[in-house]
Amino acid sequence: MAYDDNNIFARILRGEIPCKKIYEDAHTLAFEDINPAAPVHTLVIPKGKYVSATDFSEKASEVEIVAFNRAIHKVVALKGVADAGYRLIANAGLNGGQEVPHFHIHIIGGRPLGAMVQRK
Ligand code: AMP
Repeated sequence: MAYDDNNIFARILRGEIPCKKIYEDAHTLAFEDINPAAPVHTLVIPKGKYVSATDFSEKASEVEIVAFNRAIHKVVALKGVADAGYRLIANAGLNGGQEVPHFHIHIIGGRPLGAMVQRK
């Protein structure tokens, strides 16, 4: 899948749409999810143009990958959920329920989150 320059996170990165920024460095931006699923729901995105977790893992540089992973855990600390626990989610593609085609990690916490995936 080709990267869509008009996806909503690309527009946030270009400053065309506002976000509630939590953290930023040279390679990474983190901001609050607009429709939080829990008391803590923050999104962490690489600044590079990667569609999914797979795309990022295949094409990003080692510097970007390390920065992204470190940033996730800086945000975990900033949001105060490290001790109580949290969940990291990366939805990918149709079955994964990915709505925005720019790779992102959800950091979710602030309450017991229950089962990992609904069993049907
Ligand atoms: P996903 O289904 O993994 O692609 O998740 C996309 C997430 O982006 C959802 O949790 C949305 O609530 C969130 N979202 C969509 N638009 C915005 C926005 N403008 N600012 C912050 N979060 C957003």
